[in-house]
Order: sequence, then structure tokens, then C-alpha cells
Amino acid sequence: HAKEAERGGFRFFAPEMNAQALDRFALENDLRHALAEGQLFLAYQPQVEVAGGRVVGVEALVRWQHPEKGLISPARFIPVAEESGLILSLGDWVLREATRQAAAWQAQGMALRIAVNLSALQFRQSQLPTQVHSALEEAGLEPRWLELEITESTLMDNTEQAISHLWELSDMGVQLAIDDFGTGYSSLAYLKRFPLQRLKIDQAFVRDLSSDANDAAIVTAIVGLARSLGMQVTAEGVETAEQLAYLVDLACDEYQGYYCSRPVPAAEIAEVVARQATLLEA
Ligand code: C2E
Ligand code: MG
Ligand code: MG
Ligand code: MG
Repeated sequence: HAKEAERGGFRFFAPEMNAQALDRFALENDLRHALAEGQLFLAYQPQVEVAGGRVVGVEALVRWQHPEKGLISPARFIPVAEESGLILSLGDWVLREATRQAAAWQAQGMALRIAVNLSALQFRQSQLPTQVHSALEEAGLEPRWLELEITESTLMDNTEQAISHLWELSDMGVQLAIDDFGTGYSSLAYLKRFPLQRLKIDQAFVRDLSSDANDAAIVTAIVGLARSLGMQVTAEGVETAEQLAYLVDLACDEYQGYYCSRPVPAAEIAEVVARQATLLEA
């Protein structure tokens, strides 16, 4: 194709570009209907205490079961949802569904913190605190059980509104976490200045933790930073016993990763919680 384009100057019609643009357009259209038609669902990944292995929370991760294309990864459709603004209604649905599920678990005697990802666009909406409040009310969930995950760039979006959202949510009793920490640019002054409870270390630094001295140094530094700022720290993407052993040595607070469990449907969470509890007794 590249050759054709060079010879004939058909750059406009580069087939792979057309296909990509069409695909993106179709995806956006389909996503518009996906919510109404109930094609979205939430998977939940356990958040586990490093010391002892108890499951203390779950992160809600959105999934899309497309009628023809099958399961589509959020890495693919979240950017489309963000660019089209659809993330606002999608995000609202996630918030309501996740808090409802967390309240249902509590009613069954499973006290789990629920973590929900917020996109930068959601954070820029003036009604965000009201929306969070109403989701909690409707679900009948106490705010302290909800943790909102934002990225470093959302945190650094230095608008008065973003800053007042942080305080309003925190005053409400909601927890705030910085997701994918270490991959973006955030000022240490911000970490100190705002009411943040948790840093989540990006999986890129955890992957080679037990073999790469640089990654080990970075993870050690982030755990120390969180500790000295009075924040909790979670390692993402833990897949092996070696990685976990390292986190035990560092006294990292919590971890998430395939080593404990992949994100699973709500109905499977009780099983993971019970299995981890028997590890504790052993
Ligand atoms: P994230 O919030 O950083 O979520 C962690 C991602 O790492 C999840 O990917 C999870 O499945 C994956 N993961 C967990 N443990 C392991 C592991 O041990 N190894 C590896 N290789 N991966 C692991 P997922 O579910 O595909 O989500 C990707 C991203 O999409 C999320 O990253 C988040 O940024 C975004 N996302 C997912 N759900 C939502 C949502 O409801 N709203 C918004 N705004 N974004 C969402
Ligand atoms: Mg997250
Ligand atoms: Mg992350
Ligand atoms: Mg991420």
C-alpha cells in the first residue's frame, strides 16, 4: 500500500487510514447505544493487603460486550468515550452501578472499599460532587467506602474547579487515589497540598521489580514518599510471588494484580475474598 501511495500520490485513500477512521466512527456510534442496550458491565479486581493477604477493596473496571465484535477492551473504547464526551454518561453509569454493588456486598456482610476510575473530563464537570453524592445516597453507601481514582494529569489540571472538587469530595468523606503514579507529571507540592489518601504505583515499575534495580529503586522511593506524606500505597500489576515478596519487604500497603485475581464478574468476588481469608488462617 505504501508503494501505491508513493507512486500515485493516493495518500488520501491510504486504505489503512480509512479503515481506522471508519472503525473509530463505528465504535463511537455503537458505544452510544451500548449503555442503553445494557452491553456494558463491570468487572471487579480485588485490592489486597500486602501483609496478610486480606481483600479490603475492589476496583471497578468497565467492560463492553459488543454484539458482533465481542469483548472490547477499555484501553480501546475509553479514549473514544473521552473524545466524544460519551464518558460523562458512561462514567455516571459506572459510578451508580459500582456503588450499588458495593452496598449489596455490605448487606451480605462483605465490607469492601469500592474504587472507581474518573476521567479528566468527568473531573471538569461542575456537578461532579453532586453526582457522586447522589450516587452514594441512591445506593445507600457511606462515602468512606468509595475511593475515586484520578490520574496525575487530572490532579495537575490546576483549575479552581478541580481544586474545589478535591476538597468537596474529601469533605464528603470520599477517598481519593492517584492512579498510574510515576508515569505522569505531578508536583510533589500538590501531593502534599491536596487531600489524597493513596498512591497507586503504575504496573510499569512493578513488572521487573525483582530483577531491575532501577524499577526497584523507583518503587522503594514511591513507597517512602507515600509513607512520609501519610498516604497509603498500592502496587498495581503484581503477577508473581517474587514481586509480592519484594512488596512485603518494602512494607507496601496493598497490591492488585493477577497474582491474586484478574478482574472478575461481581458474582465471583465472594469466592476470592473467602480464599484469601483462608490464606490468613494458614
Ligand atoms: P487502571 O485503572 O490503571 O486499571 C488497571 C488495569 O490493569 C486494568 O486494565 C487491569 O485489568 C489491569 N491489570 C490488573 N492486574 C494486572 C496484572 O497483574 N498484569 C497486567 N498486565 N495487567 C493487570 P483494564 O481493565 O483493561 O483497564 C485499562 C484502563 O482503562 C484502566 O487502567 C483505566 O484507566 C481505564 N478504565 C477502566 N474502567 C474505567 C472506567 O470505568 N472509567 C474510566 N474513566 N476509565 C476506566
Ligand atoms: Mg484505576
Ligand atoms: Mg492504574
Ligand atoms: Mg491506567
